[in-house]
Amino acid sequence: MINIRLAIPLLLAMLSPNALATPAKLAIVIDDFGYRRHNEEQILQLPAAISVAILPNAPLSKEMAKKAHQQGHEILIHMPMEPISKQPLERDTLRPTMNKQEIQRIIAQAIHNVPNAKGMNNHMGSAMTSDLAAMQRVMGTLSHYQLYFLDSMTIGSSKATQAAQGTGVQVVKRKVFLDDDQSDAAVLKQFNLAVKMAQKNGSAIAIGHPHPSTVRVLQNRLPTLPADVVLVPVSALLPSAPPITLPSHENTQQKLPELTMAQRCPSPESINTINPTATYATVKNTVGASPLALSVYSYLAYCSASYQNLSPSKPMVKK
Ligand SMILES: [Zn+2]
Repeated sequence: MINIRLAIPLLLAMLSPNALATPAKLAIVIDDFGYRRHNEEQILQLPAAISVAILPNAPLSKEMAKKAHQQGHEILIHMPMEPISKQPLERDTLRPTMNKQEIQRIIAQAIHNVPNAKGMNNHMGSAMTSDLAAMQRVMGTLSHYQLYFLDSMTIGSSKATQAAQGTGVQVVKRKVFLDDDQSDAAVLKQFNLAVKMAQKNGSAIAIGHPHPSTVRVLQNRLPTLPADVVLVPVSALLPSAPPITLPSHENTQQKLPELTMAQRCPSPESINTINPTATYATVKNTVGASPLALSVYSYLAYCSASYQNLSPSKPMVKK
């Protein structure tokens, strides 16, 4: 039987700044790779958790895919899709009128041109992504490659999520565009908005481009990301991604102080009276299967495992 009166103070303890916390996850994707070597190389110098989306038929597609992979960045195929407005299009832009075979051919070629991609997102695509049948042909093809789809949301009526139903393709959505307005002030404002949305909702995905202002803002602001926000690749936000990502030292700018076991965890006596799995079930039934409920589980499991690893003959000493 679980003591919920014990679980609630633990929950509150976790919310204190010294406790293990579940950070908000922010994914940033830089689109349109393949044309601007200098700017793109600057992006690749940023933390590896920045994801990059590479156009499949650009002069530097293969080279940038190789470099991004070597430097640990997650890669997306930035698949050109037909927009509603008339503008110059990339070669092999996916159109709603294309049949399944044509779409399969273009996607297979894109996968060949952008090696090591984990996902795909749409370049333009307001016409293509708002066509359900056309997007079903895209998702049917993607399901053979285990690629996720990031909906760039270039139109509010995008059918990408609906089209993926039943295919096994995981879809996530862009929440913020960083640089529709390319002034430094505007990019900074959008960057701050993305951080706030991640803090509020637990996660957010922002998309930017290799513009000089975007490069500058990311260079300046990423090192001062708030301690409760961790930069992650897009795949960390997929429904199948592990629910808990504790910030690594590499990702946190502000390190938490080293705490003794006695400061970190409830006493061994009280931890022995609770079972993490059963407590998680109780908390989940009370507050829902939120990241917080999962944090309770990992916190309790961590404490009880840590006590078990300590020799029972050794008294607990407070430093
Ligand atoms: Zn694009």
